[in-house]
Amino acid sequence: MQQFPFDEIDELYRKVILDHYRSPRNMVEIGEPDIEYDEYNPVCGDRVVLQLKLSDGRVEEAGFHGEGCSISQASASVMMDSLKRKTLEEAEQLSSTFRRLMQGHTLSEDELTGLGNLAAFQGVRKFPVRIKCALLAWTALEEGIAEYRRAGTR
Ligand code: ZN
Repeated sequence: MQQFPFDEIDELYRKVILDHYRSPRNMVEIGEPDIEYDEYNPVCGDRVVLQLKLSDGRVEEAGFHGEGCSISQASASVMMDSLKRKTLEEAEQLSSTFRRLMQGHTLSEDELTGLGNLAAFQGVRKFPVRIKCALLAWTALEEGIAEYRRAGTR
């Protein structure tokens, strides 16, 4: 199940998660977002509010704000970078790949490459209670997309 040498993952884990936690990317308020979703994890008090602005069916702007542990906030921050210019279908695909990684599935080389910095979060699997933290922003993404579709504003 281990896809990188352990030391390498530990190193990547510290680098990516701490870096994004200390200097989050796209922690901005987006005016008139097409998708907005507020997700809360009562277990550790993590909160992520995700906002997406779409253009021609692709993510034009992505922003979030929130509070909570380093893993929940870093996961949201790394996600912002990876959503740019993606269609909602591609965003959902990425979300399901990330979810499978966090659940301990073995991913293909292509899937791992596609995850980029998100692959660092597999270090979180050593701490099962924190997996929910890593997935919080992704749950917000999936729920937000579902809500958007239900509203039928496509
Ligand atoms: Zn947390």
